[in-house]
Amino acid sequence: MQFRYKKITIKIGSNVLTKPDGTLNVSHIAHLVDQITFLHKHGVEVVLVSSGAVAAGRAIFEPAKKTDAVSQRQLWAALGQVKLISRYSNFFSEHGLVCAQVLTTKENFSDRTHYLNMKNCFNTLLENRVLPIVNENDTISVTELMFTDNDELSGLIASMVNSEALIILSNVNGVYNIHPQKENAELIRKIDFDDFENGNVVTTSGQSTFGRGGMHTKLRIARKVAGDGIGVHIANGTVENVLIHLLDLEKEFQHTYFVPNKKPSSGIKKWIGYSESFTKGQVMINQGALKALVSDTAVSLLPVGVVEIISEFKKGDLIKIIDETGNVVGVGKAQYSSDKIKSDTNSKKQRPLIHYDYLYMEK
Ligand code: GLU
Repeated sequence: MQFRYKKITIKIGSNVLTKPDGTLNVSHIAHLVDQITFLHKHGVEVVLVSSGAVAAGRAIFEPAKKTDAVSQRQLWAALGQVKLISRYSNFFSEHGLVCAQVLTTKENFSDRTHYLNMKNCFNTLLENRVLPIVNENDTISVTELMFTDNDELSGLIASMVNSEALIILSNVNGVYNIHPQKENAELIRKIDFDDFENGNVVTTSGQSTFGRGGMHTKLRIARKVAGDGIGVHIANGTVENVLIHLLDLEKEFQHTYFVPNKKPSSGIKKWIGYSESFTKGQVMINQGALKALVSDTAVSLLPVGVVEIISEFKKGDLIKIIDETGNVVGVGKAQYSSDKIKSDTNSKKQRPLIHYDYLYMEK
């Protein structure tokens, strides 16, 4: 049997792992473990991003009435994560496969040193043929700084470990042209990175009851990840042998495939591209600068292109770049602080505010 990829990240959503009553769907977990083990034994390196902790916790324990929403989530995640990982660990060890738990937060991605440290951890696990199972550390995550959902986390992980593909398993078959429950709804089998038009394909159905994400986030993430040169597959994780069929080179399986960009960015640019939500400052640029920055030539952002400093920043901060209509058009690392920008605007020889190597533009 020949598989499409040698290295993949698989994201399993809460709606695949939990039953309607909120308890863990153990038979789904067992079946997915069987499939992942099969892939692993056939030389496919897998990183697993699994939701389900909060849902599992919710099924175990009902907190006192006065417990607020944040504390409730912390409690459920702490209780449920143990349950979730022990299920995985037991099932994988039945097949002789060793798995390990990696819990992370959004903040771990916001600093390059932390990021590289985390990357090193994954490399070590994979080199030792240990299967990493990742989840957000919901117990300690600060609400405002949380990932939108595990789709966002899985995109970052896929990019960090250099996966060839990201497979997002949910309880829908993929992306539809209209609401999937409507008559004439058609599954979109292939979405090209270049022709991607968000508005035409969005469907909000399949919104999970227990997870945070919906199809809208999946599309946003898929676009970003495909833009990084990683193929994205959105498929129904409740279908029997979904992973085997989907990855079998000789099979055509009903799902949505996002064709990756052929010219992906470098590692540092990828990281910056994912970092929009960690930015500290913000600048508005003029039309001329925007045109130059999105062109195919390597152009850095000069202070002369900045019309307004929306929020202050220090040297080394990641800053958001917006156009004159207020749309976010890019992210980059500031070479100096916002205080210095004024003096540079007047000097003849302008130092780039954001060097091309540290600039990521949305296209
Ligand atoms: N981290 C959450 C959990 O394990 C799930 C987040 C999501 O819904 O994607 O329960």
